[in-house]
Amino acid sequence: MAAAPVATSTKSSLREELTCAICCDLFREPVMLACMHHFCKPCISRYWRGTQGPVTCPQCRKEFSSKQFQTNYLVAAMVEKVRATTSNTYIQNVEKRLKESLESHRLRREDYINSIRRDKDKMDTIKRVSADLQARVKGEFRALHQILHDEESCMLEQLKREQDEELEKVHRRLEAVKLAMRELEDNMTKLQQASAATENIVLTELPQLSAHVQVDTAPEFDVNTFSNKYMAPLQYITWRKMFKSLKPGPSPLTFDVDTAHPSIYISRDKTVAVESDNTSLHTCHSKRFLQCVNILAAQGFQSGQHYWEVEVGCKPKWDLGVASEAVDRHSRIKLSPETGYWTLRLRNGNEYSAGTQPWTRLQLSSSPQRLGVFLDCDERRLSFYNADNMSLLFSFTNGPRGKVYPFFSPCISGGRQKAQPIKLLHHPLVALSG
Ligand SMILES: [Zn+2]
Ligand SMILES: [Zn+2]
Repeated sequence: MAAAPVATSTKSSLREELTCAICCDLFREPVMLACMHHFCKPCISRYWRGTQGPVTCPQCRKEFSSKQFQTNYLVAAMVEKVRATTSNTYIQNVEKRLKESLESHRLRREDYINSIRRDKDKMDTIKRVSADLQARVKGEFRALHQILHDEESCMLEQLKREQDEELEKVHRRLEAVKLAMRELEDNMTKLQQASAATENIVLTELPQLSAHVQVDTAPEFDVNTFSNKYMAPLQYITWRKMFKSLKPGPSPLTFDVDTAHPSIYISRDKTVAVESDNTSLHTCHSKRFLQCVNILAAQGFQSGQHYWEVEVGCKPKWDLGVASEAVDRHSRIKLSPETGYWTLRLRNGNEYSAGTQPWTRLQLSSSPQRLGVFLDCDERRLSFYNADNMSLLFSFTNGPRGKVYPFFSPCISGGRQKAQPIKLLHHPLVALSG
């Protein structure tokens, strides 16, 4: 039995204390002699049987004049207690309880071990995901740095080339001037020699002189002209160029007129869609939405990353996102990923929801006038941004498979207010606020 050793020794010494020196067993009806020694009543009676006159204590040999002893109820009670706690049933019961307790401890320990393992796994996952994201962030910035670096090298090379050209021009002229000067000096020498000769002899003719070398007038170096290109808002110019190199940069979408519900009016340049009371006389087309006031963009995507921006202004009601190419366009359908729509929606001017099943209500601190939609086909991710400050509004992580088209619904406003349009933004070269 697995019990604490201290308890065992206490119990065994107590048992020894309560053992009769005659029968070497726990006292039965313990009695105490005048010498304070205890024995079983039957044992001491049997021991003294047949003895006449004085008797002795079997333990200390003390003599007593008569057979006298006292029943000791306290010792009797203790003996009963020890007998009970050392009985087989009692021990079995204690063993059972110990086993149960041990088992429950063991199970709890196992739970803790599993929990520690799960936490460690979680930490590994966090570290792995963070490392992947770190690599991604670094990659994106590396691309930006590369663009900047290339722009810088290109501009410095051009400056160097222009400097060399200017220096070359001056250099060429310098050489020409030097040559002319040498010719001039040659002629001067000849003239001086001829002049010296006239003192002695009669000069018959003038010396042969080299032809006078013509040197073009020095071209002016105009500091201003040279500097103009570089004394410019270089950061803005570079940012403008950089903007065109962004991957993904904003896609210049246009509406696909063939998909427009008959109540949608489309501008001539196909970037503005607005609900209209006059049903447009569109040609019948299988791509057309007939029940819901929807429209798609003409550009579909099925791989890579794409980003576009849409202006909704102060419209109190709209839906936008992406729709699978295969969506049913002839029935009234609840927009959800299950039916092929991944959307964000506004109702009643301030109730924003993501078109999950059921809808996910979004608490936005401000009302975006322009929305950015980011589609990562390979990662199956669709995210919506407030394009005014590029804060993330919502992400679908179980995005579409296969080809999708940017989707829009200007919705039927139904009120007396003038219908406001949805605009596809083509020139997002505006400073990001906030
Ligand atoms: Zn005894
Ligand atoms: Zn005694």
